[in-house]
Amino acid sequence: FLKGKSAIITGSTSGIGLAYAKAFASEGASVVINGFGDAADIETERSGLEATSGAKALYDAADMTKPDEIAAMIKRCHDELGGPDIIVNNAGIQFVSPIDEFPAEKWDAIIAINLTSAFHMMHHAVPLMKEKKWGRIISTASAHSLVASPNKAAYVAAKHGIAGLSKTAALETATFGITVNCISPGYVWTPLVEKQIPDTMKARNMTREQVMNDVLLDAQPTKQFVTVEQVAALALFLCRDEAASITGANYSMDGGWTAA
Ligand code: NAD
Repeated sequence: FLKGKSAIITGSTSGIGLAYAKAFASEGASVVINGFGDAADIETERSGLEATSGAKALYDAADMTKPDEIAAMIKRCHDELGGPDIIVNNAGIQFVSPIDEFPAEKWDAIIAINLTSAFHMMHHAVPLMKEKKWGRIISTASAHSLVASPNKAAYVAAKHGIAGLSKTAALETATFGITVNCISPGYVWTPLVEKQIPDTMKARNMTREQVMNDVLLDAQPTKQFVTVEQVAALALFLCRDEAASITGANYSMDGGWTAA
């Protein structure tokens, strides 16, 4: 159902972002993938997406801390693929430390990548979507857009921020056929989660197993990690015409975490 449409997914060389790209491609969309990683691995993913969709797949290395590169990526999508019809603000990093020891440069990087990049994406994509009177803007927020956890000051601030930004954009674009929504997963098994285990072990003086069971899955009543395919399936639904009235929403997919 996405044939003829194009989607940019930030931070899609891995994890949840890559799953979004695969889901959109499976419905025939052309996609722009973005993020860091090994060039050969990225090329394998890119050509795989083209084979899946039968449409174009581009890789763009725009760094989400650099507004000029974000603008250039949107222009490139517009020039080469038309659109973008769909943007997914998904790039994100994490850093775990108490506020009194939190390095200021980590705060700046998390706010830039997890929040400010979404502003720049919207700033450049909304005019193009308004012209077409159709658009879908989806952001990967987090359970941390609704509740806090200790030692994640910048991440929790950025995720609460993206929820507010999305609500504002939803109000501004509501009469243009554009919807703006957040998906807020709990713990999804991806490299981002795996990488924070050592720091949490240190911060809380715990073993790997204790961090997995007593910290990560402790918050999730289902005691299961969310899967990247589950998150991507919701994003796909939000792109359907049946979802045209869903805007300004923040969908939890957290195994019951924020119900507690
Ligand atoms: P991941 O580490 O697998 O992927 C992050 C992606 O962002 C990668 O492609 C990486 O290259 C890219 N990236 C990082 N810095 C970048 C930059 N400066 N410019 C461009 N790209 C950059 O992580 P993930 O778990 O798939 O996370 C994706 C999103 O989902 C993030 O916003 C994260 O906060 C959110 N999220 C993840 C979980 C989880 O449990 N994994 C839960 C809730 C929300």
